[in-house]
Amino acid sequence: MSLVLSMDSKPEPDPAQVLLEFRNLSKSYETRGGAVLAVSNLNLQVRDGEFLTIVGPSGCGKSTLLNMLAGLEKPSEGEILLRGRPVAEAQREIGYVMQNDNLYPWRTLIQNVMFPLEIRGMPARERKAIAEEYLARVQLDGFEDKYPYELSGGMRQRGNIVRALSFSPSLLIMDEPFGPLDAQTRLLLQMQLLELWREEKKTVIFITHDLPEAIALGDRVMVMSARPGRAKCVLDVDISRPRDIAHIHEESNYRDLLTRLGDELAEEIKITVASKRGG
Ligand code: ADP
Repeated sequence: MSLVLSMDSKPEPDPAQVLLEFRNLSKSYETRGGAVLAVSNLNLQVRDGEFLTIVGPSGCGKSTLLNMLAGLEKPSEGEILLRGRPVAEAQREIGYVMQNDNLYPWRTLIQNVMFPLEIRGMPARERKAIAEEYLARVQLDGFEDKYPYELSGGMRQRGNIVRALSFSPSLLIMDEPFGPLDAQTRLLLQMQLLELWREEKKTVIFITHDLPEAIALGDRVMVMSARPGRAKCVLDVDISRPRDIAHIHEESNYRDLLTRLGDELAEEIKITVASKRGG
């Protein structure tokens, strides 16, 4: 049985199932030292409802990719299409969760979660009901009126995630959201995220530097090349759902996939290190 399909051998998903498409996507930044090509000719299709995880060496363009999706950066070449339309026209369908929870410190937890609904003009009673429901789903009921400084890092990040889900986005993009958390909190949040994903059937694009996390969460894992980032390969995670992620390492496919991912990533890290040395 083949666990792994390269980009080249993988059949294109049925067009009706494609939510998101990166087409010949490139991004270069103008800097004082000249142009820096961050992403180059990246091509990928993501299915509606898919959980795609992304790994790659530091500085390979992962955050740049998400920033282009979120409309914070413009592609230099190529395009990003959401349901066949330029993503710039569909920004309101995207929820963005960054590594450091960016809850507003002057708003309580529930006021933070209600914020996207407020700017969309939802009546107060309705947005309160939605925010309360989401907070309860991640065991934050009872903390609605706390300010961010009164909450732990894990609680703040749970608030951050449900804030991004509260307005029912088609696509949730997450940039190393569990990076700063301790191992136990991280496992709890991974489990809660998978539960939310299963219930909501959203498409998720999730960046991580943690290979076990990429496997535990993802339907597929994209490995990005050393900068300029492109899709080096996309590996299928052939592990059934729902997953017991606390014991994911006991799955028969896990070891092979982890080894393959580690090998692919190590090659790119070596290239990154060599280029920094001018080699
Ligand atoms: P990653 O998220 O994979 O660590 P980034 O997307 O943050 O990588 O960065 C990719 C490359 O683009 C890096 O070389 C970085 O220095 C450069 N870069 C990112 N943002 C900017 C910017 N605003 N201006 C200039 N260069 C940038």
